[in-house]
Amino acid sequence: MNKKENNNGDNNGFFNKNPILIFAIFSIVIVLLFRSFGSSDGIGQNLTNNGATKTIAYSDFKEMIKQKRITQVYISDATIKASGSDGNLYVTKRVSDPTLVPTLESNNIVYSAYSDTNFLSDLLFSWVLPVFIFFGIWMFLASRMQRSMGSGILGIGSAKKLINSEKPKVTFNDVAGVEEAKEEVVEIVDYLKNPDKYLRLGAKIPKGILLVGPPGTGKTLLARAVAGEADVPFFSMSASSFIEMFVGVGASRVRDLFESAKKESPAIVFIDEIDAIGKSRNSGPMGGNDEREQTLNQLLSEMDGFDADKSPVIVIAATNRPEILDAALLRPGRFDRQVLVDKPDFKGRIEILKVHMKDVKISDNVDLEEIGRLTTGLAGADLQNIINEAALLAGRNSKKVVEQADLIEAVERSIAGLEKKSRRVNKKEKRIVTYHESGHALLAEVTKGAKKVSKVSVVPRGLAALGYTLNTPEENKFMMQKHELLAEVDVLLAGRAAEEVFIKEISTGASNDLERATDIIKAMVSMYGMSDVAGLMVLEKQRNNFLGGQTIKDYSDNMAQKVDEFVKNMLSERYNAVLDTLKTYSGAIEDMVVALYEEETIEGARVREIIRAYEERSGLESRLSDESDDEKKGVKEA
Ligand code: ADP
Ligand code: ZN
Repeated sequence: MNKKENNNGDNNGFFNKNPILIFAIFSIVIVLLFRSFGSSDGIGQNLTNNGATKTIAYSDFKEMIKQKRITQVYISDATIKASGSDGNLYVTKRVSDPTLVPTLESNNIVYSAYSDTNFLSDLLFSWVLPVFIFFGIWMFLASRMQRSMGSGILGIGSAKKLINSEKPKVTFNDVAGVEEAKEEVVEIVDYLKNPDKYLRLGAKIPKGILLVGPPGTGKTLLARAVAGEADVPFFSMSASSFIEMFVGVGASRVRDLFESAKKESPAIVFIDEIDAIGKSRNSGPMGGNDEREQTLNQLLSEMDGFDADKSPVIVIAATNRPEILDAALLRPGRFDRQVLVDKPDFKGRIEILKVHMKDVKISDNVDLEEIGRLTTGLAGADLQNIINEAALLAGRNSKKVVEQADLIEAVERSIAGLEKKSRRVNKKEKRIVTYHESGHALLAEVTKGAKKVSKVSVVPRGLAALGYTLNTPEENKFMMQKHELLAEVDVLLAGRAAEEVFIKEISTGASNDLERATDIIKAMVSMYGMSDVAGLMVLEKQRNNFLGGQTIKDYSDNMAQKVDEFVKNMLSERYNAVLDTLKTYSGAIEDMVVALYEEETIEGARVREIIRAYEERSGLESRLSDESDDEKKGVKEA
């Protein structure tokens, strides 16, 4: 569901959505109306007194009656007002006095009784207003309950209000970086716009399309863009909202959803998180879940039931877990088309950044490529968020435009958690971290096949990392060669090795590095057939990530022992080589440490400069490679 634009298409959408507001306006009008009645009716005001108003004691009042100095009397609950023959108005407190009326009559004084709170205002305050307040509260509760329950259990309105219908203004231009997915849905626009063109040929218009991809990659956006391009209404619902409280509500919501859509066809129905209802019926330890199953069945029968030829309604569903969907959903005539909406690549990220930069004032000299390189692995929603965060940062610093520094800061925040300069790192820790990170950085630069450094920092970030080295591997690498895997191991080991060489003692700060290095070598043996121990034999199968990346081990204990031995030996072999490299480059490490102490953060170029200077100074043959300007990405390392 998209909360931002759920404007109802119809004209009275405003009223539909604001019963409380309407109620408030209505009651204010009523109150004002009664007020004006009330004031014209207040008898007290009719007493014409050209003179003064005087408050007198009751006994004096009685005395004045007897002296015939009173012409008219008005009696209310609490007070008595009297017009004096002298033109003054006399006011006195009313006391319980049975002789008052006889006294007035015997003196032939005109008297009348009135209530301070006149009848209408009485009515208003004692009856009308409470009823209205009650009514208002009731409406409020009813609308809230409806939101969570679906059908109008309280009899006000119907579940249709829950169905968001809009005519999105979004176009394909707003969706960037997912070109393949876009191409696949383009034809749907044409079906919706010119159904006859296809029907004449006897073609069946597809009913369901399943968008598959991680969160935030623009599935909802894409579905809305289809509706926007075709200029048809877009009905959306999140499947998780189908099944909230009561059995049966979900099914009735599905029915309502399709009913509304058919009325306005051609239309798009979008169901987000379809896995919430579409889970395979035989999955899960508890077996089926009644409510979910009923809802799913309703959805299936709606999809089977509508005749796409007469009322083209195309159902687009989104999920990030296609593998758990019930096979019934994927059958022909239902969601038989799957479109992958994946995380954007380097070029895609730049495109997405451009789309969202249209909304903010941005400096002319920002380097989008750099931002693109730093954001590998992030989805469209993250990128949008980064642009927004950058704008907020620029605003906080009272800048007129968003600058590169703001963007980078925003990226770093989103990747590594908030910069926590305030976190206290003691001197000893800082020294260790500085050498540790310098070790990573050095090996990354001088090892062939390693990912180059884009930045080294000893500013603690987030909770866990005391420092980090951002690497910049080539983009779109789906395959790694053996030497590249080993280079990665070397870089990982270098943090700990640097501690050993320069601090002369090792700390606990390297455990994550060691774990990752071990995993890489293990995988080389057991999955990639890169060792003599197992040869080409695959020892561990990686089940697809959808099931949580379980591995299935299938080998003898004897083999297990050999593998362990191999991993251990390989690690120590690599470690020794890394120690040698670090010793050879000790001067470069010391220079890097000085720079890090001063600046806390240094760029990859600076690292290379330091190493080059050291190599020249000590007559080493340069091991720096030139291929450092490939597309880059940021990888966090502890
Ligand atoms: P999903 O439905 O896949 O979880 P959304 O469509 O809700 O993701 O994406 C959330 C927001 O992120 C979108 O409204 C859009 O602003 C931004 N976004 C995500 N992907 C893209 C993209 N490919 N191009 C442009 N903006 C995107
Ligand atoms: Zn490390």
